[in-house]
Amino acid sequence: MVDKSLTVEQQRLQQLARDFTKQHIIPAAGEYDKTGEFPMFIFEEAKKVGLNCMAVPAEYGGPGYDSVAQSVVVEEWGYGCAAFATTLNGNGLSAYPVIIAGNAEQKKLFFGRLVSGGLGGFALTEPGAGSDAGAVSTIAKLDGDEWVLNGTKCFATTCGYADIMVIIASTDPGKKAKGLSAFVVEKEREGLTVGAVEHKMGIRSSNTVELLLKNVRIPKGHLLGKEGEGMKIAMKTLDLGRPMVASIGVGIAQRALDEAISYVKERLDINGKPLAAHQAVAFKIADMQIQVEAARQLVRNVFRLKEAGLPYTKEAAIAKTFATDTAMQVAATAVGLMGSFGYSQDSIVEKLMRDAKVTQIYEGTNQVQRIVISGHLLRS
Ligand SMILES: Cc1cc2nc3c(=O)[nH]c(=O)nc-3n(C[C@H](O)[C@H](O)[C@H](O)COP(=O)(O)OP(=O)(O)OC[C@H]3O[C@@H](n4cnc5c(N)ncnc54)[C@H](O)[C@@H]3O)c2cc1C
Repeated sequence: MVDKSLTVEQQRLQQLARDFTKQHIIPAAGEYDKTGEFPMFIFEEAKKVGLNCMAVPAEYGGPGYDSVAQSVVVEEWGYGCAAFATTLNGNGLSAYPVIIAGNAEQKKLFFGRLVSGGLGGFALTEPGAGSDAGAVSTIAKLDGDEWVLNGTKCFATTCGYADIMVIIASTDPGKKAKGLSAFVVEKEREGLTVGAVEHKMGIRSSNTVELLLKNVRIPKGHLLGKEGEGMKIAMKTLDLGRPMVASIGVGIAQRALDEAISYVKERLDINGKPLAAHQAVAFKIADMQIQVEAARQLVRNVFRLKEAGLPYTKEAAIAKTFATDTAMQVAATAVGLMGSFGYSQDSIVEKLMRDAKVTQIYEGTNQVQRIVISGHLLRS
């Protein structure tokens, strides 16, 4: 059932994404999880139905879907496979800093690449700068009309395949976080190479790589916003990215719940009764549903605030934390309800549990979200 509380256009996208997931993602997810191969084909399919760069505004050739609609689609992808969802969602994450701070020329360049079918990346994290993003040590120095970038990024999603990316570097190391700036970098820039590829517990077919920057020269005009605004741009980007991660979490949790329901209705106990007939089991199913629906509504709330032009940083952190903790808990409960089959790689819930874990980590761990939430409450 599509969600009737959504607008007609959002319902259309939910149905489109649901059909897309059923047709293209679910049948392929298990095999790609085993091989870890990058699912390039899913981008090709997404292009055919206009879901490859949902965040790009209409004036730059994109569909310019509102953020509620985008999150509804991301949830459907998450239901099918969190690795594919992370990959497909990557174009959104990379587009946000350009939407937030790009000028017309930068938007034309960046969105032009995405609209013509390219992939985008967003590289903030470094070996010495994870939760403490202010510790970024990649340096950008102005040399005439060009910026010269040197440093190493890591855990950069899709960057092994990205055509264009936003890279955060320091233009004034003495100022730490206040000295960071954001740059648009095309993949063909000399000196930009892909280093080690991460082999991960979950979202295995999502591409996660090291990026090496050695005297990478880009035009002066590739600086997004002003010098020193990199941290602000990155944090605003994550405000939008985190509830999208939460949407993936809701998708994972809904899938785990659906799989558990099917199993407990079929599986018989020693007396020949379905497991679902036991109240202890039925109450677990009810608790899972309560968590999933609460998580979904927290996500919707964030994007409705955004569309209304209201602040949503705290709400984004709340939704990310609750939805991704829910994904982990509900997936683990589903594994438990399905017993040894749930623990087997023959069941989908084993993959759901591995995939859920990363949603609690990337785009700011859930501990960092608690810092954001408590900061809002205690500093005001
Ligand atoms: C699959 C994957 C894809 C990713 N994709 C991208 C990407 O595309 N672009 C990008 O820039 N980054 C990306 N990341 C990086 C990700 O955002 C970081 O891993 C994350 O922010 C955490 O940083 P860290 O791994 O360095 O952990 P650390 O900062 O080393 O933290 C380790 C632990 O300490 C806790 N901790 C740290 N500081 C505090 C504190 N002050 N109080 C309490 N607890 C604390 C953390 O919560 C965590 O549990 C990706 C990561 C993964 C795993």
